[in-house]
Amino acid sequence: MIGVTILGSTGSVGLSTLDVLARHPERFRVVALTANRNAQRLAEQCRQYRPLYAAMADPEAARQLASLLEGMPDAPEILAGHEGLEAVASLPDAQYVMAAIVGAAGLRPSLAAARAGKRVMLANKESLVMAGALFMAAVTDSGAELLPIDSEHNAIFQCLPHGFRDGLAEVGVERILLTASGGPFRDWPGERLATVTPEQACAHPVWSMGRKISVDSATLMNKGLEVIEACWLFGTGPERITVVVHPQSMIHSLVQYRDGSVLAELGNPDMRTPIAHALAWPDRLESGVGGLDLVAVARLDFQAPDPGRFPCLNLAFEAARTGGSAPLVLNAANEVAVEAFLEGRIGFPGIARVVDETLQALPLEGVAGQDLGFLIDLDQRARAQAEHRVRAAVI
Ligand code: NAD
Ligand code: MG
Repeated sequence: MIGVTILGSTGSVGLSTLDVLARHPERFRVVALTANRNAQRLAEQCRQYRPLYAAMADPEAARQLASLLEGMPDAPEILAGHEGLEAVASLPDAQYVMAAIVGAAGLRPSLAAARAGKRVMLANKESLVMAGALFMAAVTDSGAELLPIDSEHNAIFQCLPHGFRDGLAEVGVERILLTASGGPFRDWPGERLATVTPEQACAHPVWSMGRKISVDSATLMNKGLEVIEACWLFGTGPERITVVVHPQSMIHSLVQYRDGSVLAELGNPDMRTPIAHALAWPDRLESGVGGLDLVAVARLDFQAPDPGRFPCLNLAFEAARTGGSAPLVLNAANEVAVEAFLEGRIGFPGIARVVDETLQALPLEGVAGQDLGFLIDLDQRARAQAEHRVRAAVI
């Protein structure tokens, strides 16, 4: 039996992970589940999946969980706060950890799993954007296995040969083609983007996801964060990465080789495929996702992204080229701006403006060799600066 911990089990990726695990009870055992505040849902999951541990980021919610589970036979041990999340990320009983917390809050526990030498199934792309060097060093030092869950990166991983960590040029790779659905406003004229509401931004045409990543998909910042994520995962610079808008999201990404061959991974857009891939790798597991009906799909479309209407993608490319503190500042400012947009404090085009202004306002700092405390402090300063920009923004 393989023990699995799910960080962020009440979210979209967390639920898909539980769905795949429930199909293979003879192979996997749920060791720990975690959530931020939703004690009700975590209590239901504890009754259904019977983990040994349950952790909540919010201590008040952890107390609520304890009272909801009172009297349950073999109730899980309950932990709280970021220490609790880090503790369950590094338990000896769990060999695999699904890192599916959203945003910067995922960094500490995902890093704890990497440091503990787990198979880290990484959905929390923000960890790599904020702390790529530290994270990758932790993976190497501990001997952890890092498997991408983001559908594009999982596709690229599947299209690369085993030796890719020696360098992409070494294995004949010319470039990575990262596909993007284009989000719900792909065909909207620029002027109309000022009218976008949070509900419209969260209604993704293809994927059903958490609110933060849905807004990121609508601004194309999600693709920008994925460019930075791909640089760390595959040991390359942004010059080898091209973004292609592909509205059907059937091709999850492609790898172009020196001889002209282009390999792609295709499938129905359902996160259970990359999740099952990471759980089974190098084998294959049934995931509940049906095969692709190419005749029903009939056609696949492609277009170039439009940087005029969606400036976040270029802001992220620029941050990737600049390096140092730029990707971390980009991520922090984006989280603050998305939250402000969801609360109705700034308009949709304001998200890119807040990110741009925050990047301009803060001096570039070197991050090589810096520890987690330094990065978290930098994240806090960038958030304060972004909040200041939100307040100054004209809605
Ligand atoms: P979600 O909002 O649905 O779920 C987030 C989870 O994180 C929840 O369990 C929540 O309780 C937990 N969480 C939130 N804030 C927290 C905090 N401060 N401390 C501890 N836990 C906290 O998000 P999601 O859509 O499942 O996305 C999760 C991650 O996976 C993100 O990094 C996202 O970019 C990435 N991802 C998601 C998808 C998708 O299809 N949803 C696809 C690719 C990558
Ligand atoms: Mg993705």
